[in-house]
Amino acid sequence: MKLTFPHMGNTYITAKTLLDDLDVDYIIPPFNNKKALEIGTKYAPELACLPLKINIGNYIQAYEKGADTVLITGGCGPCRFGYYCEMHRAILKDAGYEMDILTLEMPNQGVKELYRRVKKLAGGFNAYKIIKALKNTAQISKSVDELERLTFQVRPREIKKGSTDKIYKIFLNKALKTNGSEALKKLIKATEDELREVEVDRNFKPLKVGIVGEIYTTIDPFSNFNIQSKLGNMGIEVNRRVTISEWVIDHIIKNALHLPRDRSHIEAAKPYLGTMIGGHAQETIGNTILHAKEGYDGIVQVYPLTCMPEIVAESILPTIEKDFDIPILTLIIDEMTGEAGYVTRIEAFVDLLRKRKERTEHGRDWLLSGN
Ligand code: SF4
Repeated sequence: MKLTFPHMGNTYITAKTLLDDLDVDYIIPPFNNKKALEIGTKYAPELACLPLKINIGNYIQAYEKGADTVLITGGCGPCRFGYYCEMHRAILKDAGYEMDILTLEMPNQGVKELYRRVKKLAGGFNAYKIIKALKNTAQISKSVDELERLTFQVRPREIKKGSTDKIYKIFLNKALKTNGSEALKKLIKATEDELREVEVDRNFKPLKVGIVGEIYTTIDPFSNFNIQSKLGNMGIEVNRRVTISEWVIDHIIKNALHLPRDRSHIEAAKPYLGTMIGGHAQETIGNTILHAKEGYDGIVQVYPLTCMPEIVAESILPTIEKDFDIPILTLIIDEMTGEAGYVTRIEAFVDLLRKRKERTEHGRDWLLSGN
């Protein structure tokens, strides 16, 4: 068995940690690319959401390198994610690619079921090894997210433009070739040290923008045209509360152990969206409100065309925009989206935020001067 798994931003680091520590043979598909999207678009139904199309492209590119089994995380409704496993299976079969699909679902039956599935993946019984691998995977995913968050803070303040991007890109490539959680921990630490040494303007006060929306397109730089880096290089500090570690720890591990989970976004969203409707719609609403209360200057919602939960969230956001007086930009992405038009919209939004800030600060100075 030679496993592969789909790309979603830096998730491959978390996935490879688990597989390395379990000694499972795997192939990482090439980083998300145009060809993968073209392949997925060719085989997937036209109205399937973008992540499914890119996933199909990932599997076929990995198949060509020798992979025969796909490892994915599963989910249960109400959105299409619950059908991903079966859809992947059917699409690959119809396209003539003989690949098995293994689903590491969020087990409602608790920790025993999670353990049973990981044991099956590891191809044997070694309780110590499995528990250690799960613990290391959770730790690495948390550290990788913290590292990315550090890039969000350093990038807008760096003196020499491009320094953060350069360090982070080298890290992403080195992580591909680094085996095992211990070596990865060292690489993450060394990259963190490098980022902390980047020369920054400590007096610069960047505008702050929260990124919300569908998990795949907010996390994956290929699908969102590297929005976090683009905004950072325009001098904007971004934040994204939905992360892989939050998903692994809160969704999978805490759920399996029946531990209390972070409900802050659910509580915040309650007056506007009081129920889970699939995907990350409740996070989109709740996190927008939390960012507004934290004094953020704006919000960008990103989602793939036809994403049902985010369409609902988008219809609620104008009310939140008004109630919390915070500008919100929505960007919808599919395989036809052109980068130039997308960037123009981001630049126009940033201009609006800057003018707004200037007006507020000017008004405050005027009041303080007593004129
Ligand atoms: S959340 Fe949206 S993009 Fe993701 S599977 Fe569901 S419908 Fe598709």
